[in-house]
Amino acid sequence: MPEVTRFAPSPTGWLHLGHALAAGRAAQAAEVAAGGRFLLRMEDIDGPRCRPEYERGIEEDLAWLGLVWEQPVVRQSERMALYAEALEKLRQQGLLYPCFCTRREIEEEVARASGAPQGPDGPLYPGLCRRLSAAERVERIASGEAHAWRLDAASAQRQLPPNLSWRDEGQGEFVADATVFGDVVLARKDIPTSYHLAVVVDDADQGVTLVTRGLDLLPSSHLHRVLQHLLELPTPRYAHHRLVVDEAGQRLAKRDHARALRTLRQEGWTPAQVWREIGL
Ligand code: GLU
Repeated sequence: MPEVTRFAPSPTGWLHLGHALAAGRAAQAAEVAAGGRFLLRMEDIDGPRCRPEYERGIEEDLAWLGLVWEQPVVRQSERMALYAEALEKLRQQGLLYPCFCTRREIEEEVARASGAPQGPDGPLYPGLCRRLSAAERVERIASGEAHAWRLDAASAQRQLPPNLSWRDEGQGEFVADATVFGDVVLARKDIPTSYHLAVVVDDADQGVTLVTRGLDLLPSSHLHRVLQHLLELPTPRYAHHRLVVDEAGQRLAKRDHARALRTLRQEGWTPAQVWREIGL
């Protein structure tokens, strides 16, 4: 079957060497010459942080690298209705609950409970709103109080068939774990979706067969496999690749302008030098 891969950057900054590796891996794995497809998806749900000039910059940098992707480019900001449908499906399964907590309230609760469990992105949500009564939930929503929607991770875990698995091309089979991120937010207070929900819906909708992305996102694949199961979506294969690090061994971030592709280009680097630098 022809491979369908994607590069899915957030237009919240300039691309750096780490993005070149992620894009290059995805483009390479697509084997376009053999009939595969390489897609570009703008993960631009984070309204105020996303800028049109970054989006243009991403396309310029990728074109400079010599990559060719299919048109049209998909923008997550234009697909909120699809995410709302998926969210509703999970809500109907009784797997979501509204969370009214502010960041501050969560931090205070975490500080109170010493030894709060840690997830890949920091302390797990301590479950304050999981304990609200159904009546209180209805009343607070009706009064217009801002709320996110969280996955009830323990309930989701109980619904999984034993040994629900997913496959990483390098590391083999994993048994999916719904609890890695705890009661993770699937729809934010300000945006009716989240990275995790949107990525799962889109990868399925776009027919992606192989998800290539950095190893930092490996824990996310557990949650994505769980969401695919609950939403009855197909599961792609995964290939998590090593991360590009700076001289201090730290993973590159968007604020590392020194490693931004456009800076390197202005300094006279060629695309071939970029590929060599990241070992592609
Ligand atoms: N938008 C994500 C990022 O820029 C990538 C998501 C993915 O590849 O699944 O880190």
